[in-house]
Amino acid sequence: MILVTGGAGFIGSNFILNWLSTSNEPIVNLDKLTYAGNLRNLSSIERLQRYHFICGDIADTELVVKLLNNFQPRAIVNFAAESHVDRSILNPELFVRTNALGIVKLLESVRSYWASLTAKEQFDFRFLQISTDEVYGNHDGMHPPFTELDARNPTNPYSASKASGDHLVRSFLNTYKLPVQTVHCCNNYGPRHFPEKLIPMTILNAVDGQDIPIYGDGLQMRSWLYVVDTCNAIKRVLGAGAIGCVYNIGTAEEKSNLDVVIEICKHLDEIHPKKTGGSYRAQIKHVTDRSGHDRSYLMCSRKAQVELDWKPLETFSTGIRKTIEWYLREDH
Ligand code: NAD
Repeated sequence: MILVTGGAGFIGSNFILNWLSTSNEPIVNLDKLTYAGNLRNLSSIERLQRYHFICGDIADTELVVKLLNNFQPRAIVNFAAESHVDRSILNPELFVRTNALGIVKLLESVRSYWASLTAKEQFDFRFLQISTDEVYGNHDGMHPPFTELDARNPTNPYSASKASGDHLVRSFLNTYKLPVQTVHCCNNYGPRHFPEKLIPMTILNAVDGQDIPIYGDGLQMRSWLYVVDTCNAIKRVLGAGAIGCVYNIGTAEEKSNLDVVIEICKHLDEIHPKKTGGSYRAQIKHVTDRSGHDRSYLMCSRKAQVELDWKPLETFSTGIRKTIEWYLREDH
């Protein structure tokens, strides 16, 4: 049994579906169902006996300790977070509450459960923290890509709150010997992504005939990983990553936001042409840039590739096509 937190969100729900389709091991999903959590993401498995859903907060110590004692998971994958940078600029405190305070409360619950396990169970146990490339801060384009050894230098309330959570996770290894692991993911895309994020918003606004907003000049560079590739990396870390390990999970393929939007328009023009003719590109509208918008987070994922024998199976071109087809197929 493993426990996933935040499993009704984008990456978490893809991870649960992926896990249950490739393993017989049961999963329990603890999710608070904020605006970003959507149980429809998991409707195909809701009656499966190997899957359990608990609605609740990672910061609710009483609930979490009870849940851990009932289900006795051998590992925890923590996806639960406030995850949208724009929202963090409007309400930084909420991000600290979930991504830092929530984490320390979760860690405390896990620590008390872990202490009750046998020595062998303690040794085999894992707490895997899902973090972001954004904790490294802005990449200046002059230096080599960030490695796991680079200092964390977050620049917005979202990344600062995530970095705080990561530091707390590491501190529980050093202080209490809790067997933790951390992954730093680059931007993910794929099915079940909440429509406030660039890629789903672009697809949905385009086909809806609305403006496709793009911040500033659109030249901010990002690496994009198809969510199933991320899920496979997380499974490798859980299976083969050492206690205390940290892995960057990303691609070397950086693209500007503008190029991403143009590529989506190109695919849509081919597979879902506008009834009125012309290209979806005409709907692109540059809007005022996000405050303090970082230009790049370029990371090196060589360590995961070498040590875990992991590499992405999708290129951006193949992954974005699948993603667009999913959004065109589903009723959102
Ligand atoms: P998401 O916003 O889609 O989902 C977050 C989930 O967490 C939601 O289901 C929400 O209901 C739940 N949640 C929020 N607060 C909670 C709480 N206090 N207790 C329990 N559940 C709570 O996020 P996502 O895009 O799936 O990201 C998952 C994780 O991966 C996050 O930690 C995020 O920082 C990290 N990450 C995401 C990306 C990306 O591109 N999406 C990239 C790098 C890292």
